[in-house]
Amino acid sequence: MSTQNVIIIGGGMAGLSAALYLARAGLTPFVFAGSPPGGQLMLTSEVENFPGRESILGSELIDVLRKQATKFGTTIIDENVKSVNLVGAGRALPVRNDESPVQHAVESASGKEYSARAIIIATGAKALWMGLPSETRLRGKGVSACATCDGFFFKNKIVAVIGGGDSALEEALTLTKFAKDVVIIHRKMEFRASKIMQERVKKHPHIHLFLNAEVTEFLGEQRVQGLRIKISPSDKSILSKTVSELEALSPALLQTKVEKKDAEYIYSKIVLDGVFVAIGHRPDTDLFKGQIAFDQKGYILTTAMYALAQLKADSQTATVTNNVFDVHYQTMTSALGVFGAGDCVDHVYRQASTAAGMGVQAALDTERWIENPQV
Ligand code: NDP
Repeated sequence: MSTQNVIIIGGGMAGLSAALYLARAGLTPFVFAGSPPGGQLMLTSEVENFPGRESILGSELIDVLRKQATKFGTTIIDENVKSVNLVGAGRALPVRNDESPVQHAVESASGKEYSARAIIIATGAKALWMGLPSETRLRGKGVSACATCDGFFFKNKIVAVIGGGDSALEEALTLTKFAKDVVIIHRKMEFRASKIMQERVKKHPHIHLFLNAEVTEFLGEQRVQGLRIKISPSDKSILSKTVSELEALSPALLQTKVEKKDAEYIYSKIVLDGVFVAIGHRPDTDLFKGQIAFDQKGYILTTAMYALAQLKADSQTATVTNNVFDVHYQTMTSALGVFGAGDCVDHVYRQASTAAGMGVQAALDTERWIENPQV
């Protein structure tokens, strides 16, 4: 059993930023960076909005940060964690003292056992993808899951957003700042998004809706150039129109070609320059289930997030847990000495720079807790 001060689970922006601060504080952090390591930034190409860097590849940003954290005494292991035992879960923790310090246990994928006085969970979240082979092939080549990150590259272009939740509608509105036209493609007639977001997109002159429409293929070789979609019109009388009449129904600016139709569907091709898939995210938190409190979507609740949920009178979240949150540590989870940072906690901002900021907050909280765990 190897004993550490702090084990950080997750080697993306949040985990490595925490490691950098803890290393400089002399706490020699130990990072399980996962396999493959690096988090969501490894899937991004150019990052142009990381403060202080005009432009940097996502993978290079992670590489620089790994070197920076290592330089000050971080140990990074590119391995996944198999299991954890968080001893402060639900606050059933004996008071820590120097003779019997609290130790959380971590087992690596290769079966090695570690213990630590504090844990930072920074396992991130994954954007959900549709799973079409053509989508996978064109990811990073005009197909993205983040309008804030990549919208800038589509000035005066035509882009599509796939999805019907708040994320999709927010992405569409963000994209109108850059793109000439934004097409929202949603598989149902009704949006899942909030009423206010629906009203905003519906009255936006540059947002066009393709409802009851399913994307069947992403088109393009080097870059995405279009989408093949299958529309089931809610008004079936539309299906009696000719192909050219149907094309005339499409928003005038969009190059939409009806390829064929049958008794149920119109099969169409839209020519465009970029596609944003916004069908949800999934936090990587299964490892901690049953040991700390989560919100109803599986994101980790820290003191700050729990307080926010209560302020929003989020009764569903409030009933998820009877655990105690410590107001002295914004980033502490419902287990003593266990902290959360980055996209596994934050389902709102999800930026490299906000993940870095949360990692730093978690590191500062961890340092303070290790020094004086009773506070
Ligand atoms: P949601 O789960 O709310 O919505 C996902 C959307 O994607 C749904 O419309 C769903 O369709 C569609 N979808 C899912 N899988 C597929 C697929 N394979 N093909 C096509 N479409 C698919 O996720 P969001 O990320 O939008 O939101 C997550 C949470 O975050 C929500 O609670 C939301 O309210 C919140 N949020 C709040 C914001 C804000 O307040 N500003 C901003 C962004 C998110 P269907 O409806 O048919 O199931």
